Amino acid sequence: MLKGFKNAVELDFSLEENRKKIEEAFKLVDAEKGKTYPLIIGGEKIETEKKIVSISPADKEVLGYVSSCSEELANKAIETANEAFKEWSLTPVEERVRCVRRLAALTIENRYYLDAWNVLESGKNWGEADGELCEALDFFNSYALNMLELDKGMDLVPTEEDTKCVYIPIGVGAIVPPWNFPFSIMGGMCSSALVSGNTFVCKPSSDTPIVCYKFMELLEKAGFPAGTFNYIPGAGSDIGDSIVEHPLTRFINFTGSKAVGCRINEHAAKISKGQKWLKRVVAEMGGKNAIIVDSSADIKKAAAGVASSAFTFQGQKCSACSRALVMSDVYDEFVEEVVKCAAELKADQGAGRDNKAMGPVVNQAAFDKISSYIEIGREEGNIVFGGTYSDEVGYYLDPTVIRDVPKTARIANEEIFGPVLAIVKVESFDEALEIANNTEYGLTGSVYSETRKNIQRAKIEFNVGNLYFNRKCTAAVVLQHPFGGFNMSGTDAKSGTKDYLTNFLNLKSITEDLNS
Ligand code: NAP
Repeated sequence: MLKGFKNAVELDFSLEENRKKIEEAFKLVDAEKGKTYPLIIGGEKIETEKKIVSISPADKEVLGYVSSCSEELANKAIETANEAFKEWSLTPVEERVRCVRRLAALTIENRYYLDAWNVLESGKNWGEADGELCEALDFFNSYALNMLELDKGMDLVPTEEDTKCVYIPIGVGAIVPPWNFPFSIMGGMCSSALVSGNTFVCKPSSDTPIVCYKFMELLEKAGFPAGTFNYIPGAGSDIGDSIVEHPLTRFINFTGSKAVGCRINEHAAKISKGQKWLKRVVAEMGGKNAIIVDSSADIKKAAAGVASSAFTFQGQKCSACSRALVMSDVYDEFVEEVVKCAAELKADQGAGRDNKAMGPVVNQAAFDKISSYIEIGREEGNIVFGGTYSDEVGYYLDPTVIRDVPKTARIANEEIFGPVLAIVKVESFDEALEIANNTEYGLTGSVYSETRKNIQRAKIEFNVGNLYFNRKCTAAVVLQHPFGGFNMSGTDAKSGTKDYLTNFLNLKSITEDLNS
């Protein structure tokens, strides 16, 4: 247990007082709609002509225009971060931690405002946005405390020599976060780099660049020196390769799809002219997460857990369940119960702004991809709930339950990243485990069972980074369920932990002969 650490507590929006505060925050955000946002390089705000247009997925309203970074400016940002590294890497850990603590305090101070921006830009409901903010606070605090621990160095065998091992920062990071946790994942990636004495350029997702900009403003106010953090939005396809390949880039911290993660890994492995190190790549990627329901399970509980895992935030969590593997003797009962849960969510559907359970998916491309998978699912199985969608106002798809899906079906094997659940019938626990492990991914999984033998087996044989029993496979909490995937789901970085920070540190062994 990390001494002094406590998880942040989410706001209760059933309280009138909290509802009022977020409504007030929406007014502030409304007044800012349509503004332009610059790049931040070495503290300098740079407007560029080419803009990324940030659009609210709930109603397609323009939220703002964000300067798009060119390759040339991205190079300048990396050089700037490299200059800033010279001093920041020598700044005592206590001072770096002080900045992180100020960052946490500022996050709390601006909580409703940050939640409101997240709701509008990512399409989350209020609770989900505030849950994310809590996760970000947990990251800030855990990385600060863990860095203080690491700063004590490593215990060594005592000898007559004077020996010590110290953790030292490694250099400039290229930080590339996704849109689905635009505050917490991005904030965790940036704060871990800074507290460990590194500097960075951050290329946010083109879907959520404003939330990232608001975070950069907090970094500035928290006292991180200019140049330690650099904000360089731009299409991944335009500047992604160049920031990965730049010879001064020391590490890449990426979270997103498998396709982009693999590309980054490949490009980072090439040695650029003048490069003096092998780049470290942390890549947390996609999933095709399964929940097994065996004959002994509490079916109502299992159905509620599966529906929540599959449909909250419209199935756009990397940890979301998209396959339920259900024993044949409880299959029909389970399907019936899941449909009831999905119907409840649909009844509560609406724009993120209204704090309904189900909001929009992030953009037109996601809407098109998910709806095309629904059509594939119509052919591959039987849709028993949902299957309907509309992009007339915003990007809305109903929670969709598809039964009788063969284990080889595309919807049972490919990441859809939307509110679509494939239910596969299995005849034995062996078969369930075999299907659960048969994709290239290995992110999260869960088992609903009251059979000890099955639980024990799954603990060993179900090969995922985050495994749960008799609970949903989403909602990992920092330092309660350290998060990171196996296989093509990622490098298993386990965010929030001390291990995570060591990705961005070198361990220097120093020995002095005292007899000379
Ligand atoms: P994505 O399309 O891979 O994008 C992620 C980031 O990579 C964005 O900032 C994107 O920029 C950038 N990018 C695109 N092409 C690039 C390139 N060639 N070089 C460098 N960067 C590039 O993923 P996403 O749609 O944002 O996120 C959804 C995916 O993330 C899902 O697969 C989900 O499972 C995964 N995810 C995983 C975790 C985890 O912890 N394992 C957590 C959250 C999400 P643009 O926006 O400009 O394209």
